[in-house]
Order: sequence, then structure tokens, then C-alpha cells
Amino acid sequence: MILVINCGSSSLKLAVFNEQLENTASGLAERLGQTDATARFKEPDTEVALPASADHQQALEAMVNTLKSRGLLDGTPLAIGHRVVHGGETFREAALINDEVLRAIEDCASLAPLHNPVNLTGIRATRALFPDVPQVAVFDTAFHHTLPEQAYRYALPDRFYQEWGVRRYGFHGTSHYFMLNETARLLGRPPSTISLISAHLGNGCSVTAIRDGESVDTSMGLTPLEGLVMGTRSGDVDPGLFDFLRNKGVSGEEVHRILNNESGLLGLSGESNDMRILEKLAASGNSQAALAIEVFCFRLARYIGAMCASLDRLDALVFTGGIGENSTHVRARTLSHLKLLGFTLDDARNREHGRNSRNEINHSHSRFPVLVIPTNEERVIAGEALKTANSQ
Ligand code: AMP
Repeated sequence: MILVINCGSSSLKLAVFNEQLENTASGLAERLGQTDATARFKEPDTEVALPASADHQQALEAMVNTLKSRGLLDGTPLAIGHRVVHGGETFREAALINDEVLRAIEDCASLAPLHNPVNLTGIRATRALFPDVPQVAVFDTAFHHTLPEQAYRYALPDRFYQEWGVRRYGFHGTSHYFMLNETARLLGRPPSTISLISAHLGNGCSVTAIRDGESVDTSMGLTPLEGLVMGTRSGDVDPGLFDFLRNKGVSGEEVHRILNNESGLLGLSGESNDMRILEKLAASGNSQAALAIEVFCFRLARYIGAMCASLDRLDALVFTGGIGENSTHVRARTLSHLKLLGFTLDDARNREHGRNSRNEINHSHSRFPVLVIPTNEERVIAGEALKTANSQ
């Protein structure tokens, strides 16, 4: 049995996998540290009793005890995998956690101040609970370690990179890696021969070009704020905006909050960051919701076009994430901007979200296959944790 832990600032996701990497339980604790903290398992649907204002460690203990009492966790896990957002240039693959690795993850915290410290909280809580189980850090950035310099360097003074590591790192690596392997499986070819464009569209969104099994360009950068329009994140803006806002008296902290939490689909629509809600509003005539979706799709189409600069062949364009897997409209609008490249959709297959044996939504005349593949980042983390723990 393998545990997978994904800690956010006030949340903790816990998933359990067997050795065949089948998911046997998943739970979510939310609003940790607040008086109304809750936790529950989805499969089987079970409420977890938490102490008032439970912290990450208390939530984890309560969730593990619930699993044990339900007979879903007997004995000690073989390995525990942790999602860690930023591995900087230090981590090119998953790492068995020891004191040195913990220090290196801490060192990367200046690159991801919102994420790495909470990931470390989760690791420490789990180590306290399972001191003898191998724990493995799986990094969102690792899959992108193959980016060529022309794709990862910003046109800034060189010392920014040399002294502070200011470069593009890319994120959602576990999801893009899963897309690579699933596409290879569907096409019946080894992953090292596959070239694809992978669009992960959830609350966070990114698109990646993969050439011969390696990430060669991606839309997120130094932080997960760059690139596509997201739920509440702006994605790309003109860097001149910062001067403009400073002159208007908007503080650096406010700019951070606005770009991360009040922009994207939420900012444009003024209504919601949830694509389902925006699609309903747009269908009932709300023009701002419609505009938010249009900007989202157009930016995505531009980025898909841009990814072609890194490829000399394309085996498939793949959609994943909550929006990519479920929004017929977003996929159709996005590809309507890319006719020049020769993508054509089959409307019926698109409406069915590619639920056919080949996951295809493209028309048979399309120049390239277009696939919908449900992502499973936790499964990748479980697999990496088991592999890394076994290889020690
Ligand atoms: P994720 O972060 O992968 O869970 O994705 C969350 C996003 O997926 C939210 O914007 C949801 O509104 C969106 N989403 C989930 N289901 C649907 C659906 N059936 N249609 C459109 N968007 C959806």
C-alpha cells in the first residue's frame, strides 16, 4: 500500500493506492487551522472527526485512524509520496526524503513561497506519524528539467539567473508526464518516440510541448502564474503593468493578491472561477462570462500555436484537467482558432469527451489526432514513490 499526500496552505489531500497502483481511498481535509475545519473520504464516503481548528498533523492522524478503523490501511505503507511544487534546478527526478533533501526543498522555498513551506509541513507531519516508512518527494517541476536553455531563459540581466535562479521552471509536470505515458499506451509506441502538446486545464492551467518523450517548452515559468488564463490567476500580462499599478498607488502585496486570486476567469467575468458556472451564465446571455471563456480559449489557442515552434512532428494534442476533460465548448472554441494548423473536431466525439477506445475527439480528416485523457497526478506520485523507495 502506498500513501500519497498533497498539502495546500489550508488543505490536505490523502490518497491510498495498492501495489498495482489502483486507488483504494481518497480523502480531503479543508479549512485547516480554522474553527470549521473538516475532512472526509470520497471513496468510501466517510466523514472524519477532527479536533477543533485541526492543523495538518492532526488532520493527517485523524484521516489515517479513520482508514485503519475501516480496514483500508492495515500494516505499514510501503512508501509515502509527497507532491512538492518546486524542485528548482536541484531536483530532476523524485527524491527519497532525508535531512539533506528536506534542506534542499527548504532552499527552493524562495522560488515558491506559497507552496514549498506547506509541502514541508505535510512531510514533517507524515514523518512524525510514520518514522520508519520511506518518504519520497515528487516535484511538479521535475519533468521539465529537459527544457532547452532557449525555452527556459528570460531576457533579463544574466546575473538574475546566475545568482538567483530566475528562469522558467514549468509546473504540472506529473500531469504532463501522465499524458505522455497514456498517449504512448493508446498509440502502442514507447514514450521516448512520442511528440505531443499536452494542455492541462484545471483551476491552474498549463500547456507543454513534449518532443521524443521530453518536455521542451511549457507555458508556466518561474512561478505557476505565467502563461494561460486560469481560474483566479491572470497568466501573462505586460510587465509594464507593474510600473503602471505602482503609479496608481497599488502596493506590491496587492498586486500579488490581484494577479493570483482575483484575476483569470474570476476577474474577467466578475462572477466565478468555475468554468461550469461560467458556461451556464454565458448560455443564459451573460456577456462578461462569455468574454471570460473567449479570452481563455483564445489565449490557449495562441499557446498551442506557440508550442509548435518546439516540435518537428505532432502525434497528438491532448486535453486534460477538470476543464480539458469536461468542457466540450472550450475544446471546440480553442480549436476553432487553429484551423490553419489543420485540427478538426468530430462534434459527436467531442460531446462524448472522447469516451471511445482511442480517446479521440478529432474528425477523421483532422491533420492531427486530438485526445481527451483524464489526468491522475496522484497515481504518478504513487508510482514514483514506489519506484524510488524500491531502488534504495
Ligand atoms: P481541476 O482543478 O482539474 O479539478 O479543474 C477544475 C475546473 O474544471 C473548474 O473550472 C471546473 O469548473 C472545471 N470543470 C469541472 N467539470 C466541468 C464540466 N463538466 N464542464 C466544464 N468545466 C468543468
